Amino acid sequence: MRTVTVVGASLAGLHAVRALRAQGFDGRLVVIGAERHRPYDRPPLSKSFLAGDAETDALSLSDAEEEAELAAEWLLGTPAAGLDTAGRAVLLADGRRITTDGVVVATGAAPRTLPGPPLAGVHTLRTLDDALALRGELRTGARQVVVIGGGFIGAEAATACAGLGAQVTVVEAAPLPLVPQLGREMAQLCARMPAEHGVRLLCGTGVKALRADAGGRPAPRVTAVELADGRLLDADVVIVGIGVSAATDWLTPSPLALRDGVLCDEGGVSSLPQIVAAGDVARYGELRAEHWTSATEQPATAVRNLLAGATVARHTAPPYFWSDQYGSRIQLAGRRGPKDTVRIVEGGPDEGSLLAVHERDGEITAVFAVNRPRPFMRLRRRLATGRPATPAPPAGAPAAAHGA
Ligand code: FAD
Repeated sequence: MRTVTVVGASLAGLHAVRALRAQGFDGRLVVIGAERHRPYDRPPLSKSFLAGDAETDALSLSDAEEEAELAAEWLLGTPAAGLDTAGRAVLLADGRRITTDGVVVATGAAPRTLPGPPLAGVHTLRTLDDALALRGELRTGARQVVVIGGGFIGAEAATACAGLGAQVTVVEAAPLPLVPQLGREMAQLCARMPAEHGVRLLCGTGVKALRADAGGRPAPRVTAVELADGRLLDADVVIVGIGVSAATDWLTPSPLALRDGVLCDEGGVSSLPQIVAAGDVARYGELRAEHWTSATEQPATAVRNLLAGATVARHTAPPYFWSDQYGSRIQLAGRRGPKDTVRIVEGGPDEGSLLAVHERDGEITAVFAVNRPRPFMRLRRRLATGRPATPAPPAGAPAAAHGA
């Protein structure tokens, strides 16, 4: 293989470049990035960066010394627009064509938006530019912030906005936020947190429309959020956190199998052996993880298989994510399911911290913690070995197991 092209110059893309060099690939390495920025870290965008406690430099994932060592060509600021699989080339939106022997797809995900024309004051939060724009508005004194969507990004952004002194309302269409991610019992527990931090959480109602002033320039400016139940929430700023879609638009039409992401085997190999995928864009078997750790781990496996020309390695590590919201660190590792039972093994809801295990047929499927990072990491490591010992419940803990 003489040329490998990595499409997507972010977390998974950078890790793919590192893995290629670490695994001995010494050919031409081209990285195509839609954003003009070198790889940077996204998790702080909804946390310390939005709160104003971190600056752009602190987000950088690499430095000049490493970039020189990696010896890649970075084509930034222009997206890839397609694949010519017959001609073995990646096509760029500006008309350039990169002839290549192998491709790593690492284009991540793009935030879903509300229907309707763009309005000033309405933000999504995925990129550094998104965060800079939102932070700029918060700094100029936005008082009333409405966050649409009570998922991780919404909760973290709400925390940062409340910390800056804004009155924050989170609107969640489901009866409870985070049930798909955490299960009902643990989601219920987390739903207590916003009120404890001065954030109003409105569940079970969707958004009907955004109201805007008529004369705003260059676009009308949002003034309120109208809810499906008729309530009207005044808003200087609206943050839309209603999930993401895998960034595969540029791949259609193409002979690659796509289904909510690039369909891959467990080694990251797509339906074509010379094309692998990693990170938020990739569906490994049934799982498309949208987590930082997966985007750092999957590329080494995908690249190994790309260089081998076949699936010789599989990525089997249990998925893991964390979220910092309302003053708490939430962590979950493993593959929890709707039929799991949940058992608290340390702490409890009234202590502000706990460690819990999800179990199915006597086996631990996942580990969950609020503000218990060390014991969580111990259990996470054991989970990764595939033989986690079941921890005993704490003395005096309620014996009841909760449906997840
Ligand atoms: P991305 O980081 O999305 O990068 C994909 C890159 O590809 C982007 O730069 C994009 O512009 C580029 N691209 C897209 N289309 C094209 C194209 N056609 N051509 C060229 N380039 C293209 N995870 C956690 O586990 N914990 C957290 O606390 C956490 N916090 C987060 C906070 C925020 C605000 C966000 C946005 C994400 C957070 N995540 C968190 C998720 C984590 O950051 C992602 O899982 C990770 O960034 C995925 O990396 P990636 O490289 O696969 O995709």
